[in-house]
Amino acid sequence: MDSSSKVVYLTFDDGPIPECTPEVLDILAKYGVKATFFMVAENAERYPDLPMRVRAEGHTIGNHTYHHMRGHQSCTKKYVADALRGEGVLATKLFRPPHGRMRFSQKKALLAEGFSIYLWDVLTHDYNPRYSVEKMLSVVKRYTRNGSIIIMHDSIKSRDRMLEALPLIIDWLQQEGYRIEALDPSV
Ligand SMILES: [Zn+2]
Repeated sequence: MDSSSKVVYLTFDDGPIPECTPEVLDILAKYGVKATFFMVAENAERYPDLPMRVRAEGHTIGNHTYHHMRGHQSCTKKYVADALRGEGVLATKLFRPPHGRMRFSQKKALLAEGFSIYLWDVLTHDYNPRYSVEKMLSVVKRYTRNGSIIIMHDSIKSRDRMLEALPLIIDWLQQEGYRIEALDPSV
């Protein structure tokens, strides 16, 4: 395969928050790459400047429910209502369920609402204190393929390791000939 066609998608869950998201945006701008932010709509509402900046800088916004709701701990009606409330704030059909899981009935209902659901195939473990920056990078090197979706978190818990690893991850991806793109918000 022609190396110019290799693409990967960086995604950030659980923000936006002022303690972390602006620094992620600064790093992405420095490298000239676009990413996708699956936002907790409650956060986006609390810090409206952040989703505005994310959009203005050409990144894609996805919906991660209004309250970061866990599908398996809530009934379908409540879950779908929370996801729709998130859509109302974030104005996007891209959706990622918190913790990557939801009930089948919830998934079915969201698909019927026209949502596009995105999980990931490369988990950086940035929220896990037992994962060093080196270990995070080695996971990315081992599992990334053409078309991979890499998950990170712009959250307090992940902040320090993630901000240190992000430039190293981007450097490596670019050296390997990957284009780093945002998910298409129109799908
Ligand atoms: Zn999450």
